[in-house]
Amino acid sequence: MKINRRKFLENSSALLSASALAAAPGAAGQPQKPGRKYRLVATEEAFATQEQANFFRNAKVSIWNDPDVDLWRHFLGSEVLLRRLLDVDHERLSIMDQAGVDMHVLSLTSPGVQCFDADAGTALATLANDQLAETIKRHPTRYAGLASFAPQDPARAAKEIDRAINKLKLNGLIVNSSTNNEYLDNPKFRPIFEAITATGAALYIHPRNLPEPAAEILKADVNLWSAIWGFQVETGIHAMRLILSGVFDDFPKLKVVLGHMGEGLPYWLYRIDWMYVNAPAGIYKSLSGRRLKRKPSEYVQDNFYITTSGMNTHSVLQYCHSVLGPDNIMFAIDYPYQESVEAAQFMQTAPLPEQDVEKMAHANAEKVFRIATA
Ligand code: MN
Repeated sequence: MKINRRKFLENSSALLSASALAAAPGAAGQPQKPGRKYRLVATEEAFATQEQANFFRNAKVSIWNDPDVDLWRHFLGSEVLLRRLLDVDHERLSIMDQAGVDMHVLSLTSPGVQCFDADAGTALATLANDQLAETIKRHPTRYAGLASFAPQDPARAAKEIDRAINKLKLNGLIVNSSTNNEYLDNPKFRPIFEAITATGAALYIHPRNLPEPAAEILKADVNLWSAIWGFQVETGIHAMRLILSGVFDDFPKLKVVLGHMGEGLPYWLYRIDWMYVNAPAGIYKSLSGRRLKRKPSEYVQDNFYITTSGMNTHSVLQYCHSVLGPDNIMFAIDYPYQESVEAAQFMQTAPLPEQDVEKMAHANAEKVFRIATA
């Protein structure tokens, strides 16, 4: 049997004092913490560029009714949040070390470049992807990264997808759900899926606020917009639109990643299938009027990966593991918006078979995002 670093440390732990174990080097050179069992690759970890922050800092008050700008007003008003979003060289690494997190798969924070016009969005995506590639070059064992693109211009987005994956060697792609009130099932976005499937990279669909006027309904009175509820509604809608429109029949190899334990989809599978199969003919159909080749749940099981971002509940993880299996679930924290130590402990203590937790903690991410194994 092959003895890996972890097994070696477990086997030798009886010979080592607790302090000696704590000082033993970890996978990426950081201190190995006592009680740390699994290598952790966190897959939904946000960063911001100075250009992004500057845009919102200089935004005119008149556009501050926009939900994205509203969200950024919150970021800019929080010194800690903004500092942690902009930093990749200092505080982030020490928080990762403190929590025993080996790697962040970085992505430009929501709404990415999708709130800008096509020219600005395209330029900012290129800039952000170049910066991300430089960051990974400086810290190759600590970071991987998902490339941004601007769906506002599908043809140029397709070119940037190819450049980011094949030239910059970034590890996957990210889109912050809808763009100008349109979702990626719209046929105008087909060049984007053609480019993505040509690279073989996975597309992470990350939340943003719902388009107006839905955002207004969520913001009224109780403020259900943003991450408490609105984000998963928006992203769940996006995933369901892709499935029911037949995108996965046209692109059977397309891999989509959803955060937050699948944005509600795993919980709804029975009812989604039942409605699709039993509703009167013609109610649920793609734009072309086609019926799906498979049941909706089968696309969720075969074309989707989910991550644990911001959802540190073992019973929910056990449920998702029971319906999706161990190969389609990946660890995530949602740094800097949620707590690294708590998320790491949640994964390290997951009450599931060890070989399955090994996959969820790092191995699935290494495969999906083509990350070198430690
Ligand atoms: Mn997030």
